[in-house]
Amino acid sequence: MIRKFIQRVFEKPKNGPVVIPLKKHGIRRESVSSCARKVTSSLQEAGFSAFVVGGAVRDLLLGRKPKDFDVATDADPDQVRAIFRRSRIIGRRFRLVHVMCGAEVIEVSTFRRSHASDESEEAGEGRTDVHGRVLADNVFGNMEEDAQRRDFTVNALFYDPSTEEIWDYHGGYADLRESKLRMIGDPATRYREDPVRMLRAVRFAAKLGMKLDRKTEAPIETLGELLQHVPEARLFEEMLKLLMSGHSVPCILELRRAGLHHGLLPMLDVILEQPMGERFVMAALRNTDERVAEEKPVSPAFLFASLLWHEVLVAWKAAQEKGERPVPALFDAMDHVLGLQQEKLAIPRRYTATMKEIWSLQSRFLQRSGRRPYLLLEHPRFRAGYDFLVLRCQSGEVDAAVGKWWEDFQAASSEAREGMLLADEAPKRRRRRRPKATPAAT
Ligand code: ATP
Ligand code: MG
Repeated sequence: MIRKFIQRVFEKPKNGPVVIPLKKHGIRRESVSSCARKVTSSLQEAGFSAFVVGGAVRDLLLGRKPKDFDVATDADPDQVRAIFRRSRIIGRRFRLVHVMCGAEVIEVSTFRRSHASDESEEAGEGRTDVHGRVLADNVFGNMEEDAQRRDFTVNALFYDPSTEEIWDYHGGYADLRESKLRMIGDPATRYREDPVRMLRAVRFAAKLGMKLDRKTEAPIETLGELLQHVPEARLFEEMLKLLMSGHSVPCILELRRAGLHHGLLPMLDVILEQPMGERFVMAALRNTDERVAEEKPVSPAFLFASLLWHEVLVAWKAAQEKGERPVPALFDAMDHVLGLQQEKLAIPRRYTATMKEIWSLQSRFLQRSGRRPYLLLEHPRFRAGYDFLVLRCQSGEVDAAVGKWWEDFQAASSEAREGMLLADEAPKRRRRRRPKATPAAT
């Protein structure tokens, strides 16, 4: 205990902050949301230190609009909670406070240090698994330690709206100017502590247009397989961030190049090797990136349905070759693919249900006679199903005329629609009239 105390008092600060003034960095306090400013100033008036941290500071310096503003402080969660009437404590593993102003939520976290870097015996056993992954979560620390536990130097900048200063412990400001993404500390150790940082490296490099520092990049090649030991739900969250980053195309290409996709989307290699599969996946990703750029909503279910579609096609075909009828074969194929995927990257049920709907609608787009097209138009997932069909046409899997037909059909008057219906599916209608015929056909 005493040794630890002496260590903590005398060995610090080996790594004091560089304080960067406004006239150098140019970020005025008005660039920070009024809610975040209110949170930092109220904490400071109560005698605590408080800074805007992480992604927001980085994005402001890059001239981008921050997604949200996080605040770090030396006040503990209960103290923060006591200052803000509209606030609540969240999180079980590590308690954070959400402070609300109108619709905006500011996440306030207490400075903390990484358990893994803690040398004292007090930290006990079981902090990491056999691969070095941190199991126990962080504990409270000081500001310097809080900077130390962060991943990249550009993510460890602290901005004080009241003085308009940036506090930089790890040279993040210079790295940012040089577009360099550099891990704090020893990269291999930090990836072992949390393999998800490898995915974050890929995402930030693609999204921010930064280059990975050589030492930050080097260990990824050999450590990639550690992603297999990360809980599936966490992997899913991180993959989702990556795919919805607005830069999914470069992210996926980089994941592939680094060999990181094996544990995530194991079939990606197979899919991308088939020219049609590659065209399909890339069209879906480009489409997503465009929507993000236009600030339109993006559906994770649609995205994952796209990524796995060609795998479903293969399984569907195989089942039909074994003699199964098309519709049941499609349902079996969907279950098969989702079952395999679930072992690697658990896609939550709320998404898999929608994915199945999008997939199962695909066979219905081929039926363009009788009442069926009208019923399909009314289906709650028609839009998603149709957008999916368009991608299939774009990739050459489905005749472009089918997509065009549906485009026209939607736009046509009811009279014109009647005229568009195909007559050539009459045999199917006859079959439907027979008792017990194709009950599960739709
Ligand atoms: P984005 O704009 O994508 O949200 P961000 O930098 O804000 O980027 P978050 O995932 O929101 O990323 O995390 C907030 C901050 O927490 C990061 O900037 C980083 O300092 C720290 N952080 C997040 N995840 C990790 C991690 N796995 N290891 C170390 N530090 C992390
Ligand atoms: Mg963030």
